[in-house]
Amino acid sequence: SKQIRLAKRPTGMPEQDTFLFDENEVKEPAEGEVVIRTLYLSVDPYMRGRMIDAPSYVPPFELNQVITGSVIGEVVQSNATNLTEGDIVIGSYGWQTYYTANETEVRKIDQTIAPISSYLSILGMTGLTAYFGLLDLGEPTEGETVVITGAAGAVGSVVGQIAKIKGCHVVGIAGSDQKINYLTEELGFDEGINYRNTDDMTAAIGRACPNGVDVFFDNVGGDIADAIMQHLNKYARIPLCGAISSYNLEGVDQGPRIQTQIIKKSARMQGFTLGDFANRFDEGTKALAEWLREGKLTDRVTVVEGFEQTPEAFLDLFRGKNIGKLIVKVAEP
Ligand code: NDP
Repeated sequence: SKQIRLAKRPTGMPEQDTFLFDENEVKEPAEGEVVIRTLYLSVDPYMRGRMIDAPSYVPPFELNQVITGSVIGEVVQSNATNLTEGDIVIGSYGWQTYYTANETEVRKIDQTIAPISSYLSILGMTGLTAYFGLLDLGEPTEGETVVITGAAGAVGSVVGQIAKIKGCHVVGIAGSDQKINYLTEELGFDEGINYRNTDDMTAAIGRACPNGVDVFFDNVGGDIADAIMQHLNKYARIPLCGAISSYNLEGVDQGPRIQTQIIKKSARMQGFTLGDFANRFDEGTKALAEWLREGKLTDRVTVVEGFEQTPEAFLDLFRGKNIGKLIVKVAEP
Protein backbone atom coordinates (compact mmCIF):
# COMPACT_ATOMS: atom_id res chain seq x y z
CA SER A 1 0.00 0.00 0.00
CA LYS A 2 1.18 3.50 -0.72
CA GLN A 3 0.97 5.82 2.25
CA ILE A 4 1.48 9.48 3.07
CA ARG A 5 2.83 10.22 6.53
CA LEU A 6 3.36 13.44 8.47
CA ALA A 7 7.11 14.05 8.15
CA LYS A 8 7.27 17.21 10.24
CA ARG A 9 5.01 19.71 11.93
CA PRO A 10 4.62 22.76 9.69
CA THR A 11 4.83 26.39 10.67
CA GLY A 12 2.93 28.62 8.28
CA MET A 13 1.79 27.07 5.03
CA PRO A 14 2.75 23.37 4.84
CA GLU A 15 5.19 22.46 2.06
CA GLN A 16 6.08 19.26 0.24
CA ASP A 17 8.55 18.26 2.97
CA THR A 18 5.69 18.24 5.49
CA PHE A 19 4.69 14.95 3.83
CA LEU A 20 6.52 11.66 3.40
CA PHE A 21 5.56 9.10 0.76
CA ASP A 22 6.06 5.52 1.89
CA GLU A 23 4.98 1.98 1.00
CA ASN A 24 4.16 -1.12 3.04
CA GLU A 25 2.82 -4.65 2.59
CA VAL A 26 -0.95 -5.02 2.73
CA LYS A 27 -1.74 -7.17 5.78
CA GLU A 28 -3.73 -10.38 5.21
CA PRO A 29 -7.17 -10.00 6.80
CA ALA A 30 -7.56 -11.86 10.11
CA GLU A 31 -11.01 -13.04 11.18
CA GLY A 32 -13.42 -10.10 11.19
CA GLU A 33 -11.17 -8.06 8.90
CA VAL A 34 -11.38 -6.86 5.30
CA VAL A 35 -8.89 -5.43 2.81
CA ILE A 36 -10.06 -2.13 1.36
CA ARG A 37 -8.87 -0.54 -1.87
CA THR A 38 -9.14 3.24 -1.63
CA LEU A 39 -11.26 4.94 -4.29
CA TYR A 40 -11.65 8.49 -2.97
CA LEU A 41 -10.11 10.31 -0.08
CA SER A 42 -10.99 13.57 1.59
CA VAL A 43 -8.72 16.56 2.19
CA ASP A 44 -10.08 19.02 4.73
CA PRO A 45 -8.98 22.32 6.28
CA TYR A 46 -9.28 20.94 9.84
CA MET A 47 -6.36 18.60 9.05
CA ARG A 48 -4.07 21.64 9.23
CA GLY A 49 -4.98 21.94 12.91
CA ARG A 50 -4.07 18.32 13.52
CA MET A 51 -0.59 18.84 12.08
CA ILE A 52 0.50 20.86 15.08
CA ASP A 53 0.94 19.48 18.56
CA ALA A 54 -1.77 21.31 20.43
CA PRO A 55 -4.87 20.20 22.32
CA SER A 56 -8.06 20.36 20.27
CA TYR A 57 -11.32 18.50 19.81
CA VAL A 58 -9.40 15.85 17.87
CA PRO A 59 -5.91 14.70 18.86
CA PRO A 60 -2.93 15.83 16.75
CA PHE A 61 -1.58 13.59 13.99
CA GLU A 62 1.43 11.67 15.16
CA LEU A 63 4.76 12.28 13.48
CA ASN A 64 5.75 9.60 10.94
CA GLN A 65 2.26 8.11 11.01
CA VAL A 66 -0.24 8.00 8.15
CA ILE A 67 -2.35 11.14 7.93
CA THR A 68 -5.89 10.07 8.77
CA GLY A 69 -9.15 11.37 7.38
CA SER A 70 -12.30 10.19 5.64
CA VAL A 71 -11.93 7.65 2.86
CA ILE A 72 -14.23 5.70 0.57
CA GLY A 73 -13.05 2.33 -0.63
CA GLU A 74 -14.05 -1.01 -2.05
CA VAL A 75 -13.76 -4.26 -0.15
CA VAL A 76 -11.41 -6.42 -2.23
CA GLN A 77 -10.91 -9.28 0.23
CA SER A 78 -13.13 -10.25 3.14
CA ASN A 79 -12.67 -12.42 6.18
CA ALA A 80 -15.62 -10.78 7.90
CA THR A 81 -19.27 -11.78 8.21
CA ASN A 82 -21.00 -8.48 7.42
CA LEU A 83 -18.94 -7.28 4.46
CA THR A 84 -18.28 -8.97 1.14
CA GLU A 85 -16.07 -8.26 -1.85
CA GLY A 86 -17.41 -5.37 -3.89
CA ASP A 87 -19.03 -3.57 -0.97
CA ILE A 88 -18.35 0.16 -0.90
CA VAL A 89 -17.44 1.42 2.56
CA ILE A 90 -16.53 4.66 4.30
CA GLY A 91 -13.87 4.86 6.97
CA SER A 92 -11.29 7.20 8.38
CA TYR A 93 -8.05 5.35 7.79
CA GLY A 94 -6.67 8.24 5.76
CA TRP A 95 -4.06 8.74 3.09
CA GLN A 96 -3.22 5.21 1.94
CA THR A 97 -4.15 3.19 -1.13
CA TYR A 98 -5.01 -0.06 0.69
CA TYR A 99 -5.93 -0.76 4.28
CA THR A 100 -6.80 -3.83 6.29
CA ALA A 101 -9.64 -2.88 8.60
CA ASN A 102 -11.72 -4.57 11.21
CA GLU A 103 -15.26 -4.59 9.86
CA THR A 104 -16.37 -2.42 12.77
CA GLU A 105 -14.01 0.38 11.66
CA VAL A 106 -15.90 1.01 8.43
CA ARG A 107 -19.51 1.47 7.41
CA LYS A 108 -21.13 0.17 4.25
CA ILE A 109 -22.72 2.90 2.16
CA ASP A 110 -25.93 2.84 0.18
CA GLN A 111 -24.97 3.32 -3.48
CA THR A 112 -28.54 3.88 -4.62
CA ILE A 113 -28.97 7.35 -3.05
CA ALA A 114 -26.24 9.36 -4.75
CA PRO A 115 -22.80 8.94 -6.32
CA ILE A 116 -20.51 7.33 -3.77
CA SER A 117 -18.28 10.41 -3.55
CA SER A 118 -21.27 12.25 -2.03
CA TYR A 119 -20.50 10.51 1.24
CA LEU A 120 -17.36 12.64 1.42
CA SER A 121 -19.26 15.80 0.53
CA ILE A 122 -22.91 16.65 0.91
CA LEU A 123 -23.93 13.41 2.66
CA GLY A 124 -20.73 13.42 4.70
CA MET A 125 -19.03 15.64 7.21
CA THR A 126 -19.24 18.92 5.34
CA GLY A 127 -22.93 18.57 4.40
CA LEU A 128 -23.83 17.69 7.98
CA THR A 129 -21.78 20.61 9.30
CA ALA A 130 -23.74 22.95 7.06
CA TYR A 131 -27.06 21.41 8.07
CA PHE A 132 -26.65 21.51 11.84
CA GLY A 133 -24.62 24.71 11.99
CA LEU A 134 -27.11 26.68 9.98
CA LEU A 135 -30.38 25.21 11.20
CA ASP A 136 -29.61 24.58 14.87
CA LEU A 137 -27.34 27.51 15.63
CA GLY A 138 -28.28 29.96 12.89
CA GLU A 139 -32.04 29.40 13.19
CA PRO A 140 -32.85 31.20 9.92
CA THR A 141 -36.44 32.14 9.23
CA GLU A 142 -38.12 33.16 5.98
CA GLY A 143 -37.15 36.60 4.73
CA GLU A 144 -34.07 36.91 6.93
CA THR A 145 -30.64 37.71 5.52
CA VAL A 146 -27.95 35.01 5.78
CA VAL A 147 -24.31 35.88 4.98
CA ILE A 148 -21.77 33.10 4.45
CA THR A 149 -17.98 33.30 4.19
CA GLY A 150 -16.12 30.59 2.31
CA ALA A 151 -19.42 30.42 0.44
CA ALA A 152 -18.28 28.45 -2.61
CA GLY A 153 -16.58 25.74 -0.56
CA ALA A 154 -17.88 22.42 0.68
CA VAL A 155 -19.64 23.66 3.82
CA GLY A 156 -20.49 27.17 2.61
CA SER A 157 -22.16 26.15 -0.63
CA VAL A 158 -24.49 23.80 1.24
CA VAL A 159 -25.26 26.40 3.92
CA GLY A 160 -26.37 28.85 1.24
CA GLN A 161 -28.52 26.32 -0.56
CA ILE A 162 -30.29 25.31 2.67
CA ALA A 163 -30.81 28.99 3.51
CA LYS A 164 -32.48 29.40 0.09
CA ILE A 165 -34.73 26.40 0.83
CA LYS A 166 -35.72 28.26 4.03
CA GLY A 167 -36.65 31.36 2.03
CA CYS A 168 -33.80 33.63 3.10
CA HIS A 169 -31.94 36.44 1.31
CA VAL A 170 -28.58 34.74 0.84
CA VAL A 171 -25.25 36.51 0.37
CA GLY A 172 -22.07 34.56 -0.32
CA ILE A 173 -18.50 35.78 0.00
CA ALA A 174 -15.77 33.96 -1.94
CA GLY A 175 -12.42 34.50 -3.61
CA SER A 176 -13.02 34.59 -7.39
CA ASP A 177 -15.52 35.88 -9.96
CA GLN A 178 -15.98 32.33 -11.21
CA LYS A 179 -17.07 31.30 -7.71
CA ILE A 180 -19.43 34.25 -7.40
CA ASN A 181 -21.02 33.40 -10.75
CA TYR A 182 -21.45 29.82 -9.64
CA LEU A 183 -23.20 30.93 -6.44
CA THR A 184 -25.58 33.39 -8.06
CA GLU A 185 -26.20 31.71 -11.43
CA GLU A 186 -26.24 28.04 -10.47
CA LEU A 187 -27.06 27.84 -6.77
CA GLY A 188 -29.55 30.71 -6.58
CA PHE A 189 -27.70 32.89 -4.07
CA ASP A 190 -29.12 36.43 -4.17
CA GLU A 191 -25.78 38.23 -3.99
CA GLY A 192 -22.11 37.39 -4.08
CA ILE A 193 -19.01 39.38 -3.19
CA ASN A 194 -15.51 38.54 -4.39
CA TYR A 195 -13.41 39.65 -1.45
CA ARG A 196 -10.24 39.55 -3.54
CA ASN A 197 -11.30 42.42 -5.79
CA THR A 198 -13.37 44.42 -3.30
CA ASP A 199 -11.57 47.28 -1.58
CA ASP A 200 -14.26 48.26 0.89
CA MET A 201 -15.85 45.06 2.15
CA THR A 202 -17.93 46.88 4.76
CA ALA A 203 -19.61 49.00 2.09
CA ALA A 204 -20.07 46.02 -0.25
CA ILE A 205 -21.77 44.00 2.46
CA GLY A 206 -24.00 46.97 3.24
CA ARG A 207 -25.13 47.07 -0.42
CA ALA A 208 -25.72 43.31 -0.58
CA CYS A 209 -27.65 43.29 2.70
CA PRO A 210 -30.02 46.27 2.60
CA ASN A 211 -31.97 44.85 5.55
CA GLY A 212 -28.89 44.01 7.63
CA VAL A 213 -27.56 40.59 8.63
CA ASP A 214 -29.61 38.15 10.69
CA VAL A 215 -27.41 35.08 10.37
CA PHE A 216 -23.66 35.20 9.76
CA PHE A 217 -22.25 31.71 9.09
CA ASP A 218 -18.50 32.11 9.39
CA ASN A 219 -15.96 29.76 7.83
CA VAL A 220 -13.15 32.29 7.49
CA GLY A 221 -12.79 34.84 10.34
CA GLY A 222 -10.33 37.75 10.15
CA ASP A 223 -10.97 41.00 8.31
CA ILE A 224 -13.90 39.68 6.31
CA ALA A 225 -15.71 38.66 9.47
CA ASP A 226 -14.98 42.06 11.03
CA ALA A 227 -16.65 43.76 8.08
CA ILE A 228 -19.77 41.59 8.26
CA MET A 229 -20.11 42.23 11.98
CA GLN A 230 -20.68 45.92 11.20
CA HIS A 231 -24.06 45.02 9.67
CA LEU A 232 -25.61 42.77 12.30
CA ASN A 233 -29.27 43.13 13.10
CA LYS A 234 -30.64 42.94 16.60
CA TYR A 235 -30.60 39.31 17.85
CA ALA A 236 -28.37 38.17 14.98
CA ARG A 237 -26.99 34.62 15.22
CA ILE A 238 -23.40 33.80 14.34
CA PRO A 239 -22.47 30.11 14.02
CA LEU A 240 -18.66 29.97 14.14
CA CYS A 241 -17.78 27.04 11.94
CA GLY A 242 -14.23 27.77 10.85
CA ALA A 243 -11.54 30.43 10.72
CA ILE A 244 -9.49 29.31 7.74
CA SER A 245 -7.88 32.73 7.27
CA SER A 246 -5.89 32.03 10.43
CA TYR A 247 -4.91 28.37 9.98
CA ASN A 248 -1.53 29.07 8.38
CA LEU A 249 -0.73 32.27 10.25
CA GLU A 250 2.48 32.40 12.18
CA GLY A 251 2.05 34.23 15.44
CA VAL A 252 -1.12 35.51 17.02
CA ASP A 253 -3.97 36.90 14.96
CA GLN A 254 -5.26 40.18 16.33
CA GLY A 255 -9.00 40.67 16.45
CA PRO A 256 -11.73 40.31 15.51
CA ARG A 257 -12.55 43.30 17.65
CA ILE A 258 -16.26 42.83 17.49
CA GLN A 259 -17.32 42.49 21.11
CA THR A 260 -19.13 45.81 21.11
CA GLN A 261 -21.12 44.81 18.03
CA ILE A 262 -22.25 41.63 19.75
CA ILE A 263 -23.31 43.60 22.81
CA LYS A 264 -25.06 46.40 20.96
CA LYS A 265 -27.01 43.96 18.82
CA SER A 266 -27.74 41.37 21.54
CA ALA A 267 -26.24 38.91 19.08
CA ARG A 268 -25.40 35.31 19.78
CA MET A 269 -22.09 33.89 18.59
CA GLN A 270 -21.51 30.19 19.08
CA GLY A 271 -18.69 27.93 18.08
CA PHE A 272 -19.40 24.30 17.28
CA THR A 273 -17.91 21.15 15.89
CA LEU A 274 -19.87 18.54 14.02
CA GLY A 275 -19.27 16.07 16.83
CA ASP A 276 -21.71 18.10 18.94
CA PHE A 277 -24.48 16.62 16.79
CA ALA A 278 -23.19 13.04 16.65
CA ASN A 279 -26.46 11.55 17.90
CA ARG A 280 -28.41 13.22 15.09
CA PHE A 281 -26.38 12.27 11.99
CA ASP A 282 -29.15 10.01 10.68
CA GLU A 283 -31.63 12.89 10.79
CA GLY A 284 -29.22 15.19 8.94
CA THR A 285 -28.23 12.65 6.30
CA LYS A 286 -31.87 11.80 5.65
CA ALA A 287 -32.86 15.44 5.17
CA LEU A 288 -29.89 16.17 2.90
CA ALA A 289 -30.50 13.03 0.81
CA GLU A 290 -34.17 13.99 0.43
CA TRP A 291 -33.34 17.53 -0.77
CA LEU A 292 -30.73 16.07 -3.11
CA ARG A 293 -33.29 13.67 -4.57
CA GLU A 294 -35.82 16.48 -5.00
CA GLY A 295 -33.23 18.52 -6.88
CA LYS A 296 -33.21 21.25 -4.22
CA LEU A 297 -29.53 20.72 -3.45
CA THR A 298 -26.61 20.48 -5.84
CA ASP A 299 -23.56 18.45 -4.82
CA ARG A 300 -20.54 20.02 -6.46
CA VAL A 301 -17.16 18.36 -6.07
CA THR A 302 -13.73 19.32 -7.35
CA VAL A 303 -11.91 16.09 -8.07
CA VAL A 304 -8.12 15.89 -8.12
CA GLU A 305 -6.89 12.71 -9.81
CA GLY A 306 -4.15 10.55 -8.37
CA PHE A 307 -2.96 9.57 -4.90
CA GLU A 308 0.37 11.33 -5.47
CA GLN A 309 -1.50 14.63 -5.79
CA THR A 310 -2.99 14.40 -2.27
CA PRO A 311 -0.63 16.87 -0.53
CA GLU A 312 -1.05 19.45 -3.31
CA ALA A 313 -4.82 18.95 -3.22
CA PHE A 314 -4.74 19.62 0.52
CA LEU A 315 -2.75 22.81 -0.04
CA ASP A 316 -5.19 23.88 -2.76
CA LEU A 317 -7.80 24.37 -0.02
CA PHE A 318 -5.73 27.27 1.28
CA ARG A 319 -5.17 28.62 -2.22
CA GLY A 320 -8.91 28.58 -2.90
CA LYS A 321 -8.61 26.28 -5.92
CA ASN A 322 -11.77 24.33 -5.18
CA ILE A 323 -15.45 24.89 -5.85
CA GLY A 324 -17.56 22.67 -3.62
CA LYS A 325 -15.91 19.75 -1.86
CA LEU A 326 -12.34 18.92 -2.78
CA ILE A 327 -11.70 15.19 -3.01
CA VAL A 328 -8.91 13.06 -4.40
CA LYS A 329 -9.76 10.20 -6.74
CA VAL A 330 -7.32 7.41 -6.05
CA ALA A 331 -8.74 4.60 -8.19
CA GLU A 332 -11.66 3.75 -10.48
CA PRO A 333 -14.64 2.25 -8.64
P1 NDP B 1 -13.73 24.65 1.64
O1 NDP B 1 -14.26 23.71 0.62
O2 NDP B 1 -14.52 25.86 1.97
O3 NDP B 1 -12.27 25.04 1.19
C1 NDP B 1 -11.56 26.06 1.78
C2 NDP B 1 -11.89 27.42 1.13
O4 NDP B 1 -11.56 28.43 2.04
C3 NDP B 1 -11.08 27.71 -0.12
O5 NDP B 1 -11.66 27.20 -1.29
C4 NDP B 1 -10.97 29.23 -0.12
O6 NDP B 1 -12.01 29.78 -0.93
C5 NDP B 1 -11.23 29.61 1.35
N1 NDP B 1 -10.02 30.20 1.94
C6 NDP B 1 -8.82 29.62 2.07
N2 NDP B 1 -7.95 30.45 2.65
C7 NDP B 1 -8.64 31.61 2.88
C8 NDP B 1 -8.28 32.87 3.47
N3 NDP B 1 -7.06 33.10 3.94
N4 NDP B 1 -9.24 33.83 3.53
C9 NDP B 1 -10.48 33.61 3.06
N5 NDP B 1 -10.86 32.44 2.50
C10 NDP B 1 -9.95 31.46 2.42
O7 NDP B 1 -13.48 23.85 2.99
P2 NDP B 1 -14.61 23.24 3.94
O8 NDP B 1 -15.94 23.58 3.44
O9 NDP B 1 -14.29 21.84 4.19
O10 NDP B 1 -14.37 24.03 5.30
C11 NDP B 1 -14.79 25.38 5.41
C12 NDP B 1 -14.56 25.85 6.85
O11 NDP B 1 -15.37 25.10 7.73
C13 NDP B 1 -13.12 25.69 7.32
O12 NDP B 1 -12.79 26.79 8.11
C14 NDP B 1 -13.19 24.43 8.14
O13 NDP B 1 -12.18 24.39 9.10
C15 NDP B 1 -14.57 24.54 8.75
N6 NDP B 1 -15.18 23.28 9.15
C16 NDP B 1 -15.64 23.19 10.42
C17 NDP B 1 -16.28 22.06 10.85
C18 NDP B 1 -16.83 22.03 12.22
O14 NDP B 1 -17.25 20.97 12.67
N7 NDP B 1 -16.86 23.16 12.91
C19 NDP B 1 -16.44 20.88 9.98
C20 NDP B 1 -15.96 21.10 8.61
C21 NDP B 1 -15.34 22.26 8.24
P3 NDP B 1 -11.93 31.32 -1.49
O15 NDP B 1 -11.57 31.22 -2.94
O16 NDP B 1 -13.31 31.82 -1.26
O17 NDP B 1 -10.88 32.03 -0.70
